[in-house]
Amino acid sequence: MEAKITLLPGDGIGPEVVNEAVKVLTAVAAQHTHTFTFTEKMAGGIAIDETGDPLPEDTLGACLESDAVLLGAVGGPKWSDPKAAVRPEQGLLKLRKSLGVFANIRPVKVFAALADASPLRPERVQNVDIVFVRELTGGIYFGQPQGREMVDGLRSGHDTMRYNEMEIKRVVNVAFKLAQGRRGKVTSVDKANVLASSRVWREVAHEVAAEYPDIEYEDVLVDAMAMYLVNRPGDFDVVVTGNMFGDILSDEASMISGSLGMLPSAALGEGMLGLYEPIHGSAPDIAGKGIANPLATILSTAMLLRSSLGLEEEASKVETAVSQVLAAGYRTADLARGGETAVNTQEMGDLVVKAL
Ligand code: NAD
Repeated sequence: MEAKITLLPGDGIGPEVVNEAVKVLTAVAAQHTHTFTFTEKMAGGIAIDETGDPLPEDTLGACLESDAVLLGAVGGPKWSDPKAAVRPEQGLLKLRKSLGVFANIRPVKVFAALADASPLRPERVQNVDIVFVRELTGGIYFGQPQGREMVDGLRSGHDTMRYNEMEIKRVVNVAFKLAQGRRGKVTSVDKANVLASSRVWREVAHEVAAEYPDIEYEDVLVDAMAMYLVNRPGDFDVVVTGNMFGDILSDEASMISGSLGMLPSAALGEGMLGLYEPIHGSAPDIAGKGIANPLATILSTAMLLRSSLGLEEEASKVETAVSQVLAAGYRTADLARGGETAVNTQEMGDLVVKAL
């Protein structure tokens, strides 16, 4: 197979972890005689510094022409002034919108070798295998009007949370299709007791659920879900929710696995082109030290191989290689417990390539 992959290493630890992911993709290509062509482009803070735009036209053009996009992370203290007119996150939101990737898929799975890394008791995290489906291109992060103004002499700000039935239907459908290939349960999370947009969400979600009689379905309010993820995370299979609730809950759930450095994600739309990235940010506190955990980005490449290139066997091989390296006791600094020696970013990437 021939595939064009655009790389957006971004800021902070982004370039460090993307480097290791490329090593893994290169090894997969060599093993299976595929040709992957990598094109690296600027995005985020580095793009603001160089061009004044967090998503230059040239970057967006390359992404739109490729089969898949692999992103490291964007942002950092240098660009985080809330009053700045241009911010790295704007580039990310524009990229998601332009690629039409409306469903963010975030698996949260506890690797057996890392059960003791979870802040929850081992018996709570046994069997945790959740896939979050977060709506990514609508809701309060995009709703207009949005802005700040003086109201009665006081500084005020406002945002708009709006969903239409098309946006809800397509993302809830993604959740049901995923559940069919898994344990057959969908949990839809909303705040229908308070928010009008959530009442529309729930109504449409029920209509979609009626088309999948083989799938168990439940509604859960977002505040209750925040509790359930801590006291019974093993009960959930596929969880679907809006943009802001999904942002918050999937970060909460990510902690179940013990480290942000382990969790991959995919953003998908109607076609095969997807955007793949670790769920963590640019980790400015450890950037440049060579100690970042590259596994979330490497596991993102497994999702890329599976969902954008249709290479299931290769994707499984990458996931198995990561499990084997962890089972053999290798840990980066974020995972190492008292007394364990940590390997650095490059060593972890090399170990995965070796296991492949
Ligand atoms: P973060 O995810 O960057 O870091 C949180 C903590 O987790 C830090 O202590 C960090 O060292 C650690 N960590 C994260 N990834 C790690 C890895 N791979 N290996 C080891 N440790 C890791 O979140 P933050 O500190 O809130 O945000 C830092 C910057 O990243 C901000 O500018 C934020 O806007 C940005 N951000 C970007 C994205 C993205 O690009 N998609 C996502 C989240 C945050």
